[in-house]
Amino acid sequence: MASLGTHSLAVLAGVAPATLAAARALADLASAHGADITITSGLRTRTHQAQLYADSLANAHAGLPFLPAALPGRSLHERGAAFDIAVLRPATGLTAEETYKLLADLAPTLGLRPGYYFRTVSDPVHFELADAAPADAPAPVTATATARNAQNERVTVMVVVAIVLVMILSTR
Ligand SMILES: [Zn+2]
Repeated sequence: MASLGTHSLAVLAGVAPATLAAARALADLASAHGADITITSGLRTRTHQAQLYADSLANAHAGLPFLPAALPGRSLHERGAAFDIAVLRPATGLTAEETYKLLADLAPTLGLRPGYYFRTVSDPVHFELADAAPADAPAPVTATATARNAQNERVTVMVVVAIVLVMILSTR
């Protein structure tokens, strides 16, 4: 029996295939421990992330429970590499809180990095692909970019040589 219902699958629409596979595997693992989970968030647009971030700040100012939300542009949800869950039924013999921890502890075996162990702010409902570069990491230097830089350098050198030649010629 599939552990993820149609609602969860609809929420996961548009995420990367690896994210979908990992979410299914996590739900199966939860099920094997007697738990039932649902997916509450998958792919987000930049606008949606900005709204969540604004809500998080508003909550904090109002003294309401803190909702962890990454800065717009820095969430792996925007790249389809993350999802959030809610525990509907805890694992056998565990509370809901203990179930989030259990799933966080099992997540790395599925190639997932659990928000539960985020160093800045624990985000127990959040899971993301472990091999996805952190969203705030600098863009990797690609071979193309390196080649383009080398080409730009050559062009710069030629322009400088040309300017010097014009200066020498014009002062004669
Ligand atoms: Zn999340």
